Amino acid sequence: MDLCNSDATIQILNKYNIALNKRFGQNFLTDPRVREKICDAAEITKEDTVLEIGPGIGTMTQYLCERAGHVIAVEIDRGLVPILKNDTLSEFDNVEIINDDIMKVDINKLVEEKNGGKPIKVVANLPYYITTPIIMSLLEKHVPLYSITVMIQKEVAERMSAGPSTKDYGALSLAVQYYTKPYLAANVPANCFIPRPKVGSAVISLKLHEELPIKARDEAHMFKLIRAGFNERRKTLSNAIADFKDLSYTRADIENALMAIGMNPKVRGEALGLEEFAKLSDYLTENNHESSIKAVIFDLDGTLLNTLDDLLDSANIVLKEFGYPEIEAEEAAAALGNGFEYYYSHILPDGKENPDWEKSFERLKEVYGERCEIKTRPYDGILEVIDEIKKLGLKQAIVSNKPDDRVKDLAKKYFADTMEAAFGEMKGIKRKPAPDVANAVIKELKLEPNECIYVGDSEVDIATAKNAGIRCISVAWGFRTKKQLKKSGASDIIEKPEELLKYLK
Ligand code: SAM
Repeated sequence: MDLCNSDATIQILNKYNIALNKRFGQNFLTDPRVREKICDAAEITKEDTVLEIGPGIGTMTQYLCERAGHVIAVEIDRGLVPILKNDTLSEFDNVEIINDDIMKVDINKLVEEKNGGKPIKVVANLPYYITTPIIMSLLEKHVPLYSITVMIQKEVAERMSAGPSTKDYGALSLAVQYYTKPYLAANVPANCFIPRPKVGSAVISLKLHEELPIKARDEAHMFKLIRAGFNERRKTLSNAIADFKDLSYTRADIENALMAIGMNPKVRGEALGLEEFAKLSDYLTENNHESSIKAVIFDLDGTLLNTLDDLLDSANIVLKEFGYPEIEAEEAAAALGNGFEYYYSHILPDGKENPDWEKSFERLKEVYGERCEIKTRPYDGILEVIDEIKKLGLKQAIVSNKPDDRVKDLAKKYFADTMEAAFGEMKGIKRKPAPDVANAVIKELKLEPNECIYVGDSEVDIATAKNAGIRCISVAWGFRTKKQLKKSGASDIIEKPEELLKYLK
């Protein structure tokens, strides 16, 4: 049964006794012409894998299943899943329904698993209460995408596609246009939905740039400048940035930088396009950084210390003792970065479900306790760089998900008196990627987040730094490759320890 009309929608809702949930932004589409417009704008073909966010009762999903090769539909409302699985989508064998909150799904992983990491298309009639977070999260996490074609509030669609010096132009326009080329495909009246939304709607298609046409060296820094620039629109850009609490530039810093890139020092943010913001950001990071950075906070395993071989050997001893196949270094590396328990649960077949889990994990703790310093050592070049940083007069510290007393011992053993603080996992303090341990270190050093740089080797470190409001430099010599780091949204990646110094001098 085609659901894209009022009668069929009401019939299905009544049949399953579904009361629409306002909290989830449920406005179901009832106009087939609009559905066709969305799919036409997305240029869906049988070659495509499509991610639909919020399938609802399956109105658009049915149509997507007919036109696309494969459809993955993520729906938060548990009550709608049986309708999709047993009724409205039961005749299609190219659809997969996932009952989850899209904001909690690791979409990069999903694309890797379901489409071999090849780009997908996102198509949705989005729940309006989280339109912007959903779209920005897809873009900032660098999910492999061809396009995002979505129904959203008209007013938000206009802001996304606005150009400089117009009333709708702002931080959202710049963020979206940095990654994509927006195209407003249609305006949609409220009577195309059940229930009718209170705001006007529009279909927008965001085509991802194959190569970013404008690239800031430090994306996160540029977006901070952009947010600052539009935070108080009536101020000049230099005043707005100087007053912005997440940046430590003075008005003079900004005026000088604007003049250096050929702009009037008294401009307002709305006069700058993406290219100018990127130039301003690059100029500031090159010329003003040295004065503001006062400390370097390091992750431990995979960043300062190469612990892989001892962790691998210990795991293989235990796996063999319990009759399981041994693992390769690559497999061990992929499971590292999230603490010891996470590591072992990802290499033991069936993880924590395995009946040998408890016994063998206890045994692993014992074996690693004996073997943790056999092959473990600082990565080549680390000790020299740590000495250089000390000479520059900067503070240094370690944050880790290892137990706190171990971290303190290791810091003392390998890095003597260079580390002013070394914090690990403690009772009552949340592990990384929560910012708690990093915040504790920053407090101990008596600094602000924007005076520190965080250096780490995994996606957990990128997220920790982001959560703590610190710039992250990712290192490619640890447990993750450059490609994996890029996928996790790393903005700065270095391949040798000495490259770190260029961010500090
Ligand atoms: N696609 C359907 C249609 O066009 O008729 C429904 C669209 S309705 C505007 C939004 C859908 O998103 C609802 O089914 C709602 O339950 C679902 N939703 C809301 N928040 C969500 C979230 N965080 N993750 C996944 N789905 C969500």
